[in-house]
Amino acid sequence: MLDLSRARDRMVDMQIARRGINDPHTLEAMRRVPREAFVEAGFEEFAYEDSPLPIGEGQTISQPYIVAHMIAAAAIKPGETVLDVGTGSGYAAAVASQIADRVYTIERHPPLAEAAGRRLHELGYDNVEVRVGDGTKGWPEAAPFDVILVAAGGPEVPRALKEQLVTGGRLVIPVGLDETSQRLLKLTRTSQSDYETEDLGAVMFVPLIGEQGWSDGSGNLAVKARELTLPQMISEAAEPLPDPDDDAFGELFDRFADRRVVLLGEASHGTSEFYRARAAITQRLIEKHGFTIVAVEADWPDAAEIDRYVRHRPKRYDQSPPFQRFPTWMWRNTDVEAFTIWLREHNAALASERRAGFYGLDIYNMSGSIAAVLHYLDEIDPAAAAIARQRYGCLTPWQSEPSTYGRAVLSAGYRKCEEAVIAQCRDLLERKLDYAAKDGADFLNAAQNARLVASAERYYRIMYYGGADSWNLRDTHMFETLNHILESRGPDAKAVVWAHNSHIGDARHTDMGLIRDELNIGQLCRQRFGEKSALIGLGTHTGTVAAASDWDGDMEIMRVRPSHRNSYERLCHEAAMQRFLLDFSRHNVLAKRLIEPRLERFIGVIYRPQTELLSHYAEASLPRQFDAFVWLDETSAVTPLGPEHARAGTPDTYPFGL
Ligand code: SAM
Repeated sequence: MLDLSRARDRMVDMQIARRGINDPHTLEAMRRVPREAFVEAGFEEFAYEDSPLPIGEGQTISQPYIVAHMIAAAAIKPGETVLDVGTGSGYAAAVASQIADRVYTIERHPPLAEAAGRRLHELGYDNVEVRVGDGTKGWPEAAPFDVILVAAGGPEVPRALKEQLVTGGRLVIPVGLDETSQRLLKLTRTSQSDYETEDLGAVMFVPLIGEQGWSDGSGNLAVKARELTLPQMISEAAEPLPDPDDDAFGELFDRFADRRVVLLGEASHGTSEFYRARAAITQRLIEKHGFTIVAVEADWPDAAEIDRYVRHRPKRYDQSPPFQRFPTWMWRNTDVEAFTIWLREHNAALASERRAGFYGLDIYNMSGSIAAVLHYLDEIDPAAAAIARQRYGCLTPWQSEPSTYGRAVLSAGYRKCEEAVIAQCRDLLERKLDYAAKDGADFLNAAQNARLVASAERYYRIMYYGGADSWNLRDTHMFETLNHILESRGPDAKAVVWAHNSHIGDARHTDMGLIRDELNIGQLCRQRFGEKSALIGLGTHTGTVAAASDWDGDMEIMRVRPSHRNSYERLCHEAAMQRFLLDFSRHNVLAKRLIEPRLERFIGVIYRPQTELLSHYAEASLPRQFDAFVWLDETSAVTPLGPEHARAGTPDTYPFGL
């Protein structure tokens, strides 16, 4: 027989330890079990390759790394009892048997189970018991188990396996809707009824076929899933949430702690619960997980004032109060104010570079941005300020009514200001080294304002044509702004984004992308950050909302009509729970059942209940649009900041008070 012990040691060092697995029990066990004895005859020399190998019946012996990864993740300890579902060659069971007291292993293919049983016996692994059967039902006579390892991927976690864990027991299992691509999940049973779930990343396993897995042959959805109604399935998958004001609200979102960007949506711009839920999640991500950026769908120069307040920077003396333009209630409301007060308090104890900032992504306050660039240059470089004044002068006639600019340029032959604003932006960015040396945060602010003016000039020019271009320019500007902020806060910076569902849900899976060629921040974040982004939508069934009937109209408190019978909202409502989180990555069967597009409600700053279906509903595929969905069944309107809320007697002191 070949002596492959050196190849085995090298495999453990190079493929396992180097990839970060350092559990000594796992490494030692992997060094002891001769993998060459578990592969098909003729494949021995490949036994220590970094890949799975065929073992007959269309099945494979898993890649050595994945076996080590699962055993280390399950943290098997001496004295414990293990259930191994999907015996295959018996290799993983043999490795586990070198740590645990006893290993029970089940294989559905009789020839594989028999061969594995014989092999384990011959090699002297006498604490392993093999049987033929459907492992999705577990092994009730030998239960409970300290650890259950599943080496095949099912559409969801089989209930029987969860129930056969001891309290404190660990279940490691690949789960996914695709037959061959899944997420590796680790469930820990924390009490009789509770489990904690950890996502260990993407994996590719053969399908788990059985009563609580895929059905035989076709790889179809589990039979069980077809018998439940959609609201029943939603209520099974739903993780209940407390009131947003409860400290525990944010805890369910710890699963997103490792993302670079967590995008939090809203289904209207005037619903208190959406702001409070986002505040609770954001507080948790900032306090416990090192997020330092809150980037919101607000104009940059206005949000910059809030940023000065929350980061304890001085108020700008000549600044008019922020968020004076329609729709004022969006960022001047009691919920946003409470969040900014919290953020300021949180930041107080931190060194300035660790303070979390509040940034605006949107482009509408062109005149505010022009004023901010000029103010900055007046202080740092008066000669450059004079040139900037001249360049921005081109836009002066349109500053109060920028929406008329495009029309004037196109139809009345006015000079367009494109070159001037681009030249101004370029000049400022070229002076970065000189200017930023004085104050990096002030430079970022001025640079973003200059970029905003350049984007806004183009935005108002192309807006005149209608169509997707102006929307796409705005969302691309928002996405680029987010990237500039992330860059400015360093390579490990993590951001939370607050914007409407129409901006943060992936546009490719809604009418926006499919019919209108529109993209959005959510799509761009997915394309750039992949699994390091989380797109979380928020929705409601009914209640009240702060909105206007027309653009520039007064804010009214309106009743939100109960959700349409063909909408996702109605399905969530019929799940009959007040608040919950649906995490689509953990409930693949449900996600697949919900994929077929249906109606979804979008309320912005305008709400027209009389024409609700036409004005506010569009088709979308919810589980593709979002990674997760937060449901708040009945909601209420925001309270705009009025004199009665101002800490110094007048609302114009917001955000600074006195
Ligand atoms: N860990 C194994 C090894 O080291 O050789 C490899 C397992 S292989 C990737 C997955 C195995 O799970 C296959 O042999 C497959 O037949 C088996 N399997 C799939 N569904 C099963 C089920 N419901 N019960 C038991 N075994 C199942």
